Amino acid sequence: MARLARVLLPLPLPEAFDYAEPEGMALSVGDQVVVPLGPQRLIGVVVALADASGHNRPLKPVLERRDEPPLPPGALAFVQWAGRYSVDAPGQPLAMALRGARAQKPRPERLVAATGAAPARMTPARARVLAAAEAPMPAAALAAAAGVSAGVVKALVDEGVLEVRLVAPPLAFDAPDPHRPGPALNASQAAAAQVLKDMIAAGGFQAALLDGITGSGKTEVYLEAVAAVLAAEPRAQVLVLLPEIALTQAVLARFTERFGVQPAEWHSGVPSPRRRRVWEALATGQCRIVVGARSALFLPFTDLRLVVVDEEHDGSYKQEDGFIYQARDLAVARAKIEGAAVVLASATPSLETIWNAETGRYRWLRLETRHGVARLPDIDLVDLRETPPEHGRWLSPPLVQAMAETLGRGEQSLIFLNRRGYAPLVLCRACGEKLTAPDTESWLVEHRYTGRLVCHLTGFSMPKPDRCPHCGAKDSLVSIGPGVERVEEEVRERFPDARVAVFSSDTVVDAEAARTLIEAMEQGEIDVLVATQAAAKGHNFPNLTLVGVVDADLGLRGGDLRAAERTYQLLAQATGRAGRKDRPGRALLQTYAPDQAVMQALAGQDRDAFVAAEMAEREAARLPPYGRLAAVIASGADPAALEGFVRALAAAAPNAEGVEVYGPADASLSLVRGRRRKRFLVRADRSVDLQGFLAAWRARVKVPGSVRMTIDVDPYSFL
Ligand code: ADP
Repeated sequence: MARLARVLLPLPLPEAFDYAEPEGMALSVGDQVVVPLGPQRLIGVVVALADASGHNRPLKPVLERRDEPPLPPGALAFVQWAGRYSVDAPGQPLAMALRGARAQKPRPERLVAATGAAPARMTPARARVLAAAEAPMPAAALAAAAGVSAGVVKALVDEGVLEVRLVAPPLAFDAPDPHRPGPALNASQAAAAQVLKDMIAAGGFQAALLDGITGSGKTEVYLEAVAAVLAAEPRAQVLVLLPEIALTQAVLARFTERFGVQPAEWHSGVPSPRRRRVWEALATGQCRIVVGARSALFLPFTDLRLVVVDEEHDGSYKQEDGFIYQARDLAVARAKIEGAAVVLASATPSLETIWNAETGRYRWLRLETRHGVARLPDIDLVDLRETPPEHGRWLSPPLVQAMAETLGRGEQSLIFLNRRGYAPLVLCRACGEKLTAPDTESWLVEHRYTGRLVCHLTGFSMPKPDRCPHCGAKDSLVSIGPGVERVEEEVRERFPDARVAVFSSDTVVDAEAARTLIEAMEQGEIDVLVATQAAAKGHNFPNLTLVGVVDADLGLRGGDLRAAERTYQLLAQATGRAGRKDRPGRALLQTYAPDQAVMQALAGQDRDAFVAAEMAEREAARLPPYGRLAAVIASGADPAALEGFVRALAAAAPNAEGVEVYGPADASLSLVRGRRRKRFLVRADRSVDLQGFLAAWRARVKVPGSVRMTIDVDPYSFL
């Protein structure tokens, strides 16, 4: 009987298309196929097969079934779910899922092997080569094994005694050994690990929050869970998500130590052929542990049994462009689809996750003590109104004194400022103009290392001019405020003998650079590390005893939904870096608002009080986690067309109980790359099908060609 194949293409199209299955092709759901679309031939995935007999339209046939691993059912179901959740075209998450399948294939290796022919003339060197050539191996390795020069091997190849074979590199990853012993766990670690092991033994979807201060040993606990999963089933797979590439090397090393083999690594810095290998090995069940960035969620696991989301509160789990998603929430969804366990780990969990734990949706495992360290650091607030830095300086007298003491003891300081570059603003003293990029309303940030002014939003940059581009005044431009480069300059001036380094995404461009800097810090080759949030998390520096926060109020400005929460998380993480076994650390927070609830909670180390106060505010305003939010953003280069569209969109908003639509309003970033931006904000009760509402709304309008409309479910950026 003829069948039709419904094929999803990795494109922003509203739905999958139907094709005829040619006789004898014997397609299955998940197969990668080639289909025609207009004049193009495209690769897609079969999402359904149905009887075509009732179908009266002639269908174009599937052209080819690709000789590639199919997308496993769980991955396919997840892709479709993610498209609906994000109110986006299902082809968008499919494109993410197929990225590894489209990566470059690993090149075959050139190996030499014996042909069985005898050499015309035997020498002792040749005899050693033949004895060593038991299995195919690279020519250089063979020469080394036989203790001969490369020329001897080459001559044997030329003579036909050895032959060169092109062999595909191995696909399978080495099997991890779950039975290697881990460290002896302390009592609270052991209790948490036991709960996780019981969860895994019970099987099926379950979620847990692993909640413990920095250094309490959460990683050791989840490694136990990983061991339990690997030991339980020979095919079971594990995914560990990390928010930063900079963290992966340290975590990979701990996995390697624990399970005896290097796990697969997945992030944007992994070369294309290696990604292809990870993708194919997973899809064919030949890879069991992946440690990766958020996009690893879309990989083709066949037997996923455990997902760990480390630093689950981290804002970088939210992808804001292209396909918009929150990886932590999608990780829970993927685990549910796969019937797997999910562990969310953090020292400062998000309010959403705490809420899920409080209401019993997630098991709540708390690690109360810090492994090996007696106490958390002492945290003091420095009131900048009382002890301000000198004019044009950023470090207050109490912080400078603490740094001097720390240096004197031969210990390390971390000076934290979550701002890249030298100065966040360049202003003309003559006319008052604040410099922005020509097509974007966002301040240009001065970078002294490169001598350029950079738009952090779009990447636009230009050399710093010596005249104001607005009024033409000469030498009138002044740098306002500090970035890490400027603080570094001050540290060098104040402590000329100290060894100072900067850790920001400008100085640490890849995983390799991060490792080098982290090693230098661990080896005590740095006295003062000036850092953005890139260094605030995950690393344990044993000789670091002072953390100074230059501008604790920074994240509170702008005042969006999560401003206080983010500030608390970031500063608690940053200050948690200080201290070691025999000497507790100190943290100094410079602030103009020492009475703010966030600052009080940080100084008093009272997370629960902060969470309770913040939850109460969210509940009163029915904001997440007590309600749901979505942003609708429209942008366009033609202001009249944009205005007309947002007016039509406002008029088309469906009436629904428990939903409020605010806007349209000019976005805070009202001009980006020459496009004006307008925003709506939707608030909905938790009982409302927010995605259904948004999909219905979108269906009521036609988006003109000059306008782009973006839906952001659960927005993290309100700009
Ligand atoms: P977290 O993930 O909570 O920040 P880690 O698991 O990284 O904490 O542990 C912090 C440090 O303490 C690491 O160096 C780790 O190796 C060590 N550690 C944790 N638990 C134990 C244990 N039970 N025995 C020995 N060392 C441990």
